[in-house]
Amino acid sequence: MHREHTKAVSVGDVVIGGKNNVVIQSMTNTKTEDVEATVKQIARLEAAGCELVRCTVPTLEAARALGEIKKRVHIPVVADIHFDYRLAIAAIENGADKIRINPGNIGSKERVKAVVDAAKERNVPIRIGVNSGSLEKEMIEKYGGVTAEGITESAMDKVRLIESMGYDNLVVSIKSSDVLMSVEAHKIIAKMTDHPIHVGITEAGTIISGNIKSAIGIGLILSEGIGDTVRVSLTDDPVQEIYSAKLILRTLGIRKSGVTVVSCPTCGRTNIDIISLAGQVENMVKDIDADIKVAVMGCVVNGPGEAKEADIGIAGGIGEGLLFRKGEILKKVPEDQLLSSLKEEIDRIIIS
Ligand code: SF4
Repeated sequence: MHREHTKAVSVGDVVIGGKNNVVIQSMTNTKTEDVEATVKQIARLEAAGCELVRCTVPTLEAARALGEIKKRVHIPVVADIHFDYRLAIAAIENGADKIRINPGNIGSKERVKAVVDAAKERNVPIRIGVNSGSLEKEMIEKYGGVTAEGITESAMDKVRLIESMGYDNLVVSIKSSDVLMSVEAHKIIAKMTDHPIHVGITEAGTIISGNIKSAIGIGLILSEGIGDTVRVSLTDDPVQEIYSAKLILRTLGIRKSGVTVVSCPTCGRTNIDIISLAGQVENMVKDIDADIKVAVMGCVVNGPGEAKEADIGIAGGIGEGLLFRKGEILKKVPEDQLLSSLKEEIDRIIIS
């Protein structure tokens, strides 16, 4: 498994690769120059379980803001740089724990070297990010279009360039909005490098299409044993990206912490608004860090039996419902108290 043989890269106090946990990350969508708004959003991301956060650095003011932001947050901060090598250096000087660059758009070798030297001086890791959308013309011509081989070769060229400058404190990412191409590219690059790999599907889309594409793409890549850190990209509140990433990792059995909610698809036996109830339960448990399974079922006849693998669950009846544990009924509960009774029981399980 590639993940078990990657180099360990320290980003602040978080380690990517080297048999460590797959790190969950996201990116702020505030103006980085707006320290208050950015710190506030990072606090929400932290509370949701984000372990590493990336902020865009499009200006010198944003690079300077990083210093202040870092003082007020508890997770490492990565600076996202495009085009201007001076911003990469400024971000490093202002305490960025890692920088993300595409050496292909940084410019001359001398400019890339200036960034690498600054990173080397402070031992700041560099994530080399290559995106199918910005693949060089030579690669497109060589492979007859944008292909997995082309993206991979482009990324490896940049890895070798930076290694030739005497620096190997690197994380690599190759992104494509084409899910299957992305999977293929990861399989190829995993055979070529032992640098940790950042996995994500770029421009995945809004909450439904973004989640589906990410779950398939990131899921397939992770299940190949590839990927040391993940970011789910959604056109939505970045906090949603954390919940999605956690769910992908939990579903694959890669991370255990967090409540798994199962709910029935509803049918003609349903006598309760189970759709809204399931949503409320998901919301109630989303920040609980315990490895338990909670079931929300639509009827008392089949619900407890169908969900007997769940640690705890509720099943809706007419005006009342059942609270059950491992398929065994604990008690009847009035409909309006189902949610609070479930919470009490979850708390009891966590404490015991
Ligand atoms: S638990 Fe009951 S309501 Fe839900 S799908 Fe099964 S039979 Fe239908």
